[in-house]
Order: sequence, then C-alpha cells, then structure tokens
Amino acid sequence: MKKIFALIFTLVMAISATSFAAEKVLRVATEPTFAPFEFTDENGGFVGFAMELIRAMGKEAGYKVEIQHIGFDGLIPALQSNIIDCAASGMTITEARSKVVTFSSPYYTAGLLVLVNADNKDIKGYADLNGKKIACQIGTTGENKSRQVPGAKVTAFNTNVEACMELVRGSADAVINDAPVVAFYLKTPAGKKCKAVGDVLEAEEYGFAFNKNNVKLIKDMNKALATLKKNGEYDKIYAKWFN
Ligand code: GLN
Repeated sequence: MKKIFALIFTLVMAISATSFAAEKVLRVATEPTFAPFEFTDENGGFVGFAMELIRAMGKEAGYKVEIQHIGFDGLIPALQSNIIDCAASGMTITEARSKVVTFSSPYYTAGLLVLVNADNKDIKGYADLNGKKIACQIGTTGENKSRQVPGAKVTAFNTNVEACMELVRGSADAVINDAPVVAFYLKTPAGKKCKAVGDVLEAEEYGFAFNKNNVKLIKDMNKALATLKKNGEYDKIYAKWFN
C-alpha cells in the first residue's frame, strides 16, 4: 500500500514539475503614461488596451505574461540586451527602429497631434510651432517631430504626464503626442484646460517590439494576434477602450 502511495506521489510531482517547466514566461515591458494604451490603476497594476491585448496574445500562444515598467528610451536597449522579451508601449513601427528590433504585425493605427492650452490663440497647427517651446516624451516620434520645427526650444521628458504638466503650467507652448492619447487626455480634468489643434500628422502604426533573434517568439505572437483578430477577441478589447 505504502509503495502505491509513494508511486502516485512521485508521479504527481513529476507531472506538476513538467507542467511548471512548460510554462514559458514572456517578459513584457512598458512605459505606462500612455492612456488608454498603457497606464497604471490605483493599485499600480498595468491596464489599458495594449496591456489587455498583450496578455491575451501571450495566453493564446501559451506564455505566462509578466509586465514591468521601463522608461520609453530604455525599451529598445532592454530588448537588445535580452533583459525583456517584448516592448508593449505604443511603439510606432519606424524604419530606424526596425533596423534594431523586429515588430509584430501592426495592432493600432495612430498619428501625432499638437496640444496647446485652451486659451492659446496663435497656434492653430504644426506649421505655427516655429520658434515655440515644445514639450514631448523622450525617444518618441513626437520628440522627433518636435526637433524638426525650425527654431523651436524642445524639452523631452521621461513621461508624457510630465510633458503635459509643462504645458498646463505655462512653461511650454505646445506638446506633440500621439492623437489617441491626446484625445483621451482631453477628457481628463487636467486635459480640460487644453485643446488639440490642426490635423493629425501622418499615420503611424503601433507594433509590439522583440529582439531580432527571437524568431520563434515573434512567429508565435503574430499568429496569436491574427487569431485574436479573427475570433473577435481583439474587437472586444478594442470596444472596451475606444467606444
Ligand atoms: N508612438 C510614439 C512612439 O513610438 C509614442 C509612444 C509612447 O509615448 N509611448 O514614439
């Protein structure tokens, strides 16, 4: 009898050990000042469209998703040094970035927008920014676009929240940030003191970024994204954050 119990015990242990070993961890990083894509709730948990999407993709592909916070300009270096497996941070698929990381298929189409204080009368769009003080987030396409403005005094902050605070307190004339994030911000109490001006600058597509050598993972995650787009799960998550 004792022997049978010992045998059952050994079997159970062996089975649970293999299933633990089979649970692959996906180390995701994000810079969470980018609502409604990635931000933190009152308990410090990561929430938003892209957070739910990457969790669903990981689950679909058989990974246990663990999310950590890394500054936006630290995401690509963290991928390159294999500290993380995936950057999920509203990152636009650009030619320059595609040289150093591999992006998933696009998961959202956005573009940049100019944000000013509600009482601003002289800035009606990007063309009026010459010589102005522009706040933006470091390492972003918004920073890139800000630095192309002739004579502008550009200040790049670690977070989008700081860039917007700089505008509201009157230390910057404008912020250049992603249009869906600006739209979300305008509905918050702080955002009520601001307005968006001009058209959305050229379209940008977001992708999840991976280390170039992680070929199998990239394949798995693209397959998972395609499945979620087909089975209605992507639409469900989208509707929750954008409708
Ligand atoms: N989409 C922009 C970029 O890729 C901004 C991203 C962000 O601020 N999180 O640079």
